Amino acid sequence: MCGMPAIQIPAKAYDFIDKAHLSGLLSGKRPDAGRIREIIAKSLAKEALSVEETAVLVMAHEPELVEEIFAAARRLKQQVYGNRIVLFAPLYIGNNCVNDCSYCSFKRSNKGMVRRTLTQREIREQVVALEDKGHKRLILVFGEHKQYDPRFIADTVRTVYATRSGHGEIRRVNINAAPLDHEGYAAIKEAGIGTYQIFQETYHHPTYARVHPGNTPKGDYLYRLHGLSRAFEAGLDDVGLGVLFGLYDWRFEVLGLVSHALHLQHCYNVGPHTISFPRLRPAHGVEVDSRYLVSDYDFKRIIAILRLAVPYTGLILTARETPEVRRELMAFGVSQIDAGSRIELGGYTEAGDAQVMEREQFCLGDIRPLDEVMAELMRDGYLPSFCTSCYRSGRTGEHFMEFTIPGFIKEFCTPNALLTLQEYLEDYASPGTRAAGEALVAEELAKLRDGDVKDALCARLADIREKRRRDCYF
Ligand code: SAM
Ligand code: SF4
Repeated sequence: MCGMPAIQIPAKAYDFIDKAHLSGLLSGKRPDAGRIREIIAKSLAKEALSVEETAVLVMAHEPELVEEIFAAARRLKQQVYGNRIVLFAPLYIGNNCVNDCSYCSFKRSNKGMVRRTLTQREIREQVVALEDKGHKRLILVFGEHKQYDPRFIADTVRTVYATRSGHGEIRRVNINAAPLDHEGYAAIKEAGIGTYQIFQETYHHPTYARVHPGNTPKGDYLYRLHGLSRAFEAGLDDVGLGVLFGLYDWRFEVLGLVSHALHLQHCYNVGPHTISFPRLRPAHGVEVDSRYLVSDYDFKRIIAILRLAVPYTGLILTARETPEVRRELMAFGVSQIDAGSRIELGGYTEAGDAQVMEREQFCLGDIRPLDEVMAELMRDGYLPSFCTSCYRSGRTGEHFMEFTIPGFIKEFCTPNALLTLQEYLEDYASPGTRAAGEALVAEELAKLRDGDVKDALCARLADIREKRRRDCYF
């Protein structure tokens, strides 16, 4: 296997989600205010929390104490990560699926679904459409099917990287697909992927069994639970966790996510790069069970508690949510959002203003164009970023560095965010967004201390504006 990354001896798969322990943590008496504040202080002192400490925050109930958790999450986000928000878009490649997940319109029993797998030519067309809007980072999404084997996924990744339109190029490709075996991950690593995401959907075993029939591949809880462990063992170093909130009690799921993150950290010395927290959405041919749907208030608690519990991990808020909800939740520690998203197969060239439910996995809450989202982010004081520099410079684990290395954000993150924003303003922005962006770049520059970093940044910004240079990063 010449050139293939070395595969570590696989760890023995075992079920590290201790259901009785997690449930026990949620059934004790309410924690007192002193204990809650102690744990908030630990997190603000930049220490990751244990599952037991996270459970204390989850059990905090009185509105004033929950407000303190919100305030702490806002503060941690502001102090540590600043105002950057990274933008990406999803690209659905194929919706054939052998599974029968009760919540998903791609399930095999859903006969009313339009099934489609994009050809390589169609993938190129979608990528051109995305590049022409200004995107630099994509997540490719697949159903689970023998057609979407590792070789197919790797070829698709290569096609995406090879597709260029004007100054447009995709610089980071992440994957959301079925769990693979070690050889499968190794093959995909060779194509140069960023993050491999697998959502456990629910960590609660009986619920998992209820929504994923046992006679389907996804019915195997343990194989999925160890999906990202195998990815690490096969040489990937960048993985994303997730829960589909709304299937079971959100409190249990938050503890499941933190248990999983700590397990990866313990076994492989690297935590997850990102955590996603999709909320269940209406979908074609799906009857939503409303028992565990998460309210906006509890959703805010989930994000704030995750921010405090796993401070080194990026948090992704998707366009499943409406613009209003996204706007409100962003401040609690979200680091990435998708924008200008369409999830119909072929949606970036074929979809109109309305969503077509028979052609998409679920209904999106926010289908505003990228330019509109960029303008709103800047109005709200955020610095939109398309930066891919850490990953391309081999600085993996950037959230850890952002968090722990003094000056890392000033030296790398803010300058790179500004460089990618300037590219966007030159090549894709509407006149209004461009004016707002130019003002923001000037404002951010004024905040930077005089010195070598600022001088180098100003020189590169001038190169982008005047010499039409692109892809300059630190
Ligand atoms: N098919 C692969 C798998 O299941 O692992 C790839 C992921 S699937 C295409 C993307 C994710 O969409 C799922 O992991 C699930 O969390 C989420 N999803 C499915 N149905 C949903 C719904 N009705 N509302 C919101 N998210 C949903
Ligand atoms: Fe298939 Fe994934 Fe949908 Fe389940 S969630 S039916 S595996 S596409």
